[in-house]
Amino acid sequence: MTMTSGTIGTILHHKGASVWTISPQATVFEAIQLLARKNIGALPVVEGDKLIGIFTERDYTRKVALEGKTSHTTKVREILTSEVVAISPNETVEDAMRLMTEKRIRHLPVLEEGRMVGLISIGDMVNWIISAQSAAIDQMEAYLSGR
Ligand code: AMP
Repeated sequence: MTMTSGTIGTILHHKGASVWTISPQATVFEAIQLLARKNIGALPVVEGDKLIGIFTERDYTRKVALEGKTSHTTKVREILTSEVVAISPNETVEDAMRLMTEKRIRHLPVLEEGRMVGLISIGDMVNWIISAQSAAIDQMEAYLSGR
């Protein structure tokens, strides 16, 4: 198995399926507070149980102060990205890397039959590849030393 042929489902299995989300009615201040508290970079925006967008650190840096807005009076709804790019658990790490590179994004909600079952960040992918690499090196060393 190569480094990037593993599935998104396998990564989620290790990382866990829990996802912090935010409501579109929340203020941008509440959203960045949650990002800071949970030490994360993106929040899927959910209304009822529907995924209606995504809000990331980058939306905050580009769409608030620079647009003359303030985080206490701006709602997440006003600055979210509504065309969400998502991935399915059956797709591979390579598929996810390609999507993130092409679209210049660092977060992908994972959808299974329209339901959000997790979120994968570029950091999760880097961690995955590093551990897959070190496992492969261990195996090759064991093989070469006849263990
Ligand atoms: P990021 O690099 O993930 O912080 O996101 C950069 C920009 O792309 C921000 O405007 C995000 O709202 C948007 N973005 C991030 N992830 C996604 C995604 N999965 N689908 C659509 N837009 C996204």
